[in-house]
Amino acid sequence: MRAMVLDRPGQPLRAAELPEPQPGPGQVKLAVRTCGVCRTDLHIYDSELQGEPKLPLVMGHQIVGEVVAAGEGARRFELGDRVGVPWLGWADGTCRYCREGRENLCENARFTGYDVDGGYAEFAVAAEAFCFPLPPAYSDAEAAPLLCAGLIGYRALRLVGEAERIGFYGFGSSAHILCQVAVHEGRRVFAFTRDGDTDGQAFARSLGAEWAGGSSELPPEELDGAIVFAAVGPLMVQALKASARGARVISAGIHMSEIPAFSYDLLWEERTLGSVANLTRADGDDLLRIAPQVPVRAAVTTYPLEDAQQALEDVRAGKIEGSAVLVVGE
Ligand SMILES: [Zn+2]
Ligand SMILES: [Zn+2]
Repeated sequence: MRAMVLDRPGQPLRAAELPEPQPGPGQVKLAVRTCGVCRTDLHIYDSELQGEPKLPLVMGHQIVGEVVAAGEGARRFELGDRVGVPWLGWADGTCRYCREGRENLCENARFTGYDVDGGYAEFAVAAEAFCFPLPPAYSDAEAAPLLCAGLIGYRALRLVGEAERIGFYGFGSSAHILCQVAVHEGRRVFAFTRDGDTDGQAFARSLGAEWAGGSSELPPEELDGAIVFAAVGPLMVQALKASARGARVISAGIHMSEIPAFSYDLLWEERTLGSVANLTRADGDDLLRIAPQVPVRAAVTTYPLEDAQQALEDVRAGKIEGSAVLVVGE
């Protein structure tokens, strides 16, 4: 099968011909139709995550695929079913976190396109228990960004609580989906882009943001909560400066540059800084139920599989309005 392979972090992906993976017990084999490109893939590429990825590695953890084979005991899906594979590829179900319903924090979790090969390839295998049936309303390309940008963003939105005035710092793949969900929930969205990115600000307003500006600006009103999607530590402090009493400021990224020291005055009055890690299957079920009701429309820029490196570089440059998606098969 054709695949784009990461041999070593920092080296351009290599177009390779690999043997097709075979499903083990409880796994399904998927013919990959599309795979979303995530900011996390860049962090893997740049060696910015704790721990070591499998190498060589097929990245990609927003997989839309068709079930073409099932391993021993795998009976959840029929051949031909369309399913989605997220970042959480497997959790043990037995550690203290899993037993508390927090499988996103599982000590033995395996992550798709990191610990196990992902979807930058024609075929992938996945644990069927961690796959999602996908709403038929979405095309293969539109469904892919829901699986990480949507899903982990949705978990971050829940962690922000009931905030009415919510700030989104960094308006990329994840924020453009969550903006629609937040507006649907009756919240008021304030969007922050790179300074001077007037196209990005117009894009945010077109999706229902009440206000959009540069990230060094203060919004016209205090925020009751904020999600920092950009991997830029100083934005956590900037969001605190914009926050009302009791606001929660949540980082939605797996990696962030250093957060600078700041005065306790900014945190005082029950403001909270926090982070979101991974996802639970319940988060996925919730978002995939709600998305068609909003209805969330993902803006996608598609690339052929062989252009995965270009897609990564365009995500890095912030060139993409919405989400980058590799189209692998039809
Ligand atoms: Zn566990
Ligand atoms: Zn991701």
